[in-house]
Amino acid sequence: MADDAERRTGKDSGAKSGHDKDRETIIHNRLRDGTLKIYELEKELSPIDAIRVRRGFIEQETGATLKNIGIFSIDVERVVKRNCENMIGTVQVPLGVAGPVLVNGGYATGNYWLPLATTEGALVASVNRGCSAITKAGGAEARILHDGMTRAPVFAADSIIHAAQVGDWVKVHRDELKAAAESTTSHGKLTDIVTFVAGTSVFVRLEFDTKDAMGMNMVTIASAKVADMIAQGTGVRLIALSGNMCTDKKPAAINGIMGRGRSVVAGVALSHRLIKEVFKTDAKTLFEVNYRKNLVGSARAGSMGFNAHAVNVVAAMFIACGQDAAHAIDGSTCITTVDFTDTGVYVAVTLPSLPVGTVGGGTGIDTQQECLKLLGVAGSGRPPGTNAKKLAEIIGAGVLAGELSLLGALAAQHLARAHQQLGRG
Ligand code: NAP
Repeated sequence: MADDAERRTGKDSGAKSGHDKDRETIIHNRLRDGTLKIYELEKELSPIDAIRVRRGFIEQETGATLKNIGIFSIDVERVVKRNCENMIGTVQVPLGVAGPVLVNGGYATGNYWLPLATTEGALVASVNRGCSAITKAGGAEARILHDGMTRAPVFAADSIIHAAQVGDWVKVHRDELKAAAESTTSHGKLTDIVTFVAGTSVFVRLEFDTKDAMGMNMVTIASAKVADMIAQGTGVRLIALSGNMCTDKKPAAINGIMGRGRSVVAGVALSHRLIKEVFKTDAKTLFEVNYRKNLVGSARAGSMGFNAHAVNVVAAMFIACGQDAAHAIDGSTCITTVDFTDTGVYVAVTLPSLPVGTVGGGTGIDTQQECLKLLGVAGSGRPPGTNAKKLAEIIGAGVLAGELSLLGALAAQHLARAHQQLGRG
């Protein structure tokens, strides 16, 4: 049904033959009377045709014109199999760049342009200002403190004694559990097992080195094998493969304390001269804004994040780089610190839980992969794992830039003015 020009663009040329139109009408009628389900279109049509026919059906059902949703350039053959069901097109999110930012990391070394997909006016400009300060200061230091993606199945024991025995059994059989987990993946390595008990509920938190993958699918598959062995070996009942002690896609203290995904820290020393030149403020004011807002204010509010807007950069870079956008919540638990030094201040961001990957998930979608390429981190690293860690360090530096800029704007009382100039329609 789609000609060659339509195939990659998703565009409907409008020059369909009478036969094509008749066929589409028949399919729409079958969708309407329920003899064909909306998720079954790819069984009868190529992905690009299925997307167009489904979109046409939704247009008829809702009366909305979805012309722009139907214009895209990504290769949908892979996407409909791996990333999105019932696809009708794409939404376009504006992409800006901030930088270059100089990063002196354990994995990321050099100048980077940060891709930020956002609709928040003033965000890219703000991060850009922070990048400029970091680069003028000689670069952001960045390090990976911990690396491990987790899954924690929950089991039901018969009694608290039985529950405690499960923890002992897991310790004794650790090597066998590790071998079973690693039989499901050629890249993943089981690196830690910690058992938690609450009454008769037993949670076994399994942690993996997932190399360049964010790893949620990888560790879920491996954890299923481990969970079956634990159930067979101890007689506990497996209740759910994810028992929320993982903890995936919820703000949770355990991720902040034990780490989840890549734990990254980035910091920069700013001189008194630079603080004045770039941020139009001074070290004492910068320190006090961070202390009273990010530390005292967050504590008083019961916030799990002690930062200004770390998730802004995490979300914008996650969307740009094909990361699971729901994991932006993990970025919100960042802690921003400002220390006085002899020459000015040392500002640091600590992100204990940053689930990122450069293979798998949405990283292979054409536009997202281009963003990874502009950072030099697309695909497998050499050795495996180094690209994902590099990406985490670059995001850490981006978060630092965002924090510096917003703290600076607040310290100089410039925040409302910047939003008035850049963020209003
Ligand atoms: P994935 O797309 O399922 O698979 C990644 C696979 O790539 C790995 O398992 C590995 O295969 C292979 N691979 C090739 N080169 C690699 C390298 N250098 N390093 C590591 N692996 C390499 O991706 P995933 O990262 O496991 O999972 C991410 C997806 O999970 C996202 O789409 C996310 O939205 C979704 N997700 C799933 C759950 C869940 O519960 N299942 C929860 C949240 C999110 P081998 O294992 O064979 O080595």
